[in-house]
Amino acid sequence: MSDDDYHRRTAITRLAVSPTDESLLRDTTAEWKQGCQIAVDKAWERCHSKSDVQQLAYDDVRDQTSLGSQHAILACHQAAENIKSCISRRQDGKKASKPTYTSPTVTYDSRTMTVFPEKEQVSLTTHGDHARVRADLVLPDDEDGYQHQYLDSDEWEPTESTLHYRDEDWYLHLGFRKPKTADEATENGTVLGVDLGVTEIAVTSTARFFSAGELNHKRREFERVRGDLQECGTRSAHRTLEVVSGREDEYVKHVLHSVANGIVEEALRYDCEGIVFEELDGIRERLPEAAWHSEWAFDRLYEYVEYKAEAEGLFVETTNPKNTSKRCAECGFIHDDNRPSRDTFECQQCGNQNHADYNAAKNVADVYLRREQQSSRGRGVSQYALKSGTVTPNRGYTPYPDGFEVEPTDKPHPQRSE
Ligand SMILES: [Zn+2]
Repeated sequence: MSDDDYHRRTAITRLAVSPTDESLLRDTTAEWKQGCQIAVDKAWERCHSKSDVQQLAYDDVRDQTSLGSQHAILACHQAAENIKSCISRRQDGKKASKPTYTSPTVTYDSRTMTVFPEKEQVSLTTHGDHARVRADLVLPDDEDGYQHQYLDSDEWEPTESTLHYRDEDWYLHLGFRKPKTADEATENGTVLGVDLGVTEIAVTSTARFFSAGELNHKRREFERVRGDLQECGTRSAHRTLEVVSGREDEYVKHVLHSVANGIVEEALRYDCEGIVFEELDGIRERLPEAAWHSEWAFDRLYEYVEYKAEAEGLFVETTNPKNTSKRCAECGFIHDDNRPSRDTFECQQCGNQNHADYNAAKNVADVYLRREQQSSRGRGVSQYALKSGTVTPNRGYTPYPDGFEVEPTDKPHPQRSE
């Protein structure tokens, strides 16, 4: 199992430590800081994976400190993690200099720490040949204290934890983990496919249609006004023209915002991890009929969806638009004749009939997921959302469980939403 296969929680509790044990823990803390420093000094700008740092620095840490073998390993791992976060800070354009270890903490794991939930005690390895320290967990009297939720549970097991000394007291940040269920651990995340177009600004794989009717109508009105003003040619007409154009831009942005909100809403409603569009490059050529459209509008829409989605923790990706309009989402058959008119899709092989943009929205998701299966980016998604269920490219359709709040049919009776 990898690190990502677990749910993780931390429960913080104070420890009651005897004066003798206290000095042992203080010394262990000092040795730990030194061990981490040795490992960082050795590995800095040389390596950053746990195993590499361990291989490089373990012997030095053992020779130059009184840490036991497991704590020497953990110190190397600690150094590796800190170096890694320096690297990613630098990649973000921030400054990051070599870490120095000053705070009084020690990392523990299941080999260096044992938790006794019934006795509400913990035993901790110390440095050198000293015995383990045994300390009482000072838990809130209240049985419902959140720490009990993990301590008293058979599902949660203690894992990597940190001992802290602050305000003259010892605290244990006790880490717990619980394996994810098979369902959670396998890659079964869902995406929403979105097709962009002319009569519909956007159509989702869950059959939500965002019509461009109103927008196209208004655009034509604006165009007429602009035409009149241009003909007039006076200075004041020129100024009015600027005002009108500004107003038009504002109107288009307003429409695009509401479409973006609708798309994100749809993704959340169907419990998706992400939203997939077709790539925008070349969209002008693919949609030559669009009077109102410009790359600008689609770029804007994408941008709005991207930041609204990010705020909700969803990713946004694009995929190659090749054949998404000619391919049958049901059987995969690709043919020019599958698209007899702009809005209709009729598969020449399996007879599937559908709204062309809706069929394309499913294809956008499908193509993305197929590519995703071969990539190592690990978005953890394998299916796309329909109104009535999900589709996994290779394994097909699964209806939503009973009680899911959607209509029972996926067949095309597109809802119109402006
Ligand atoms: Zn077909």
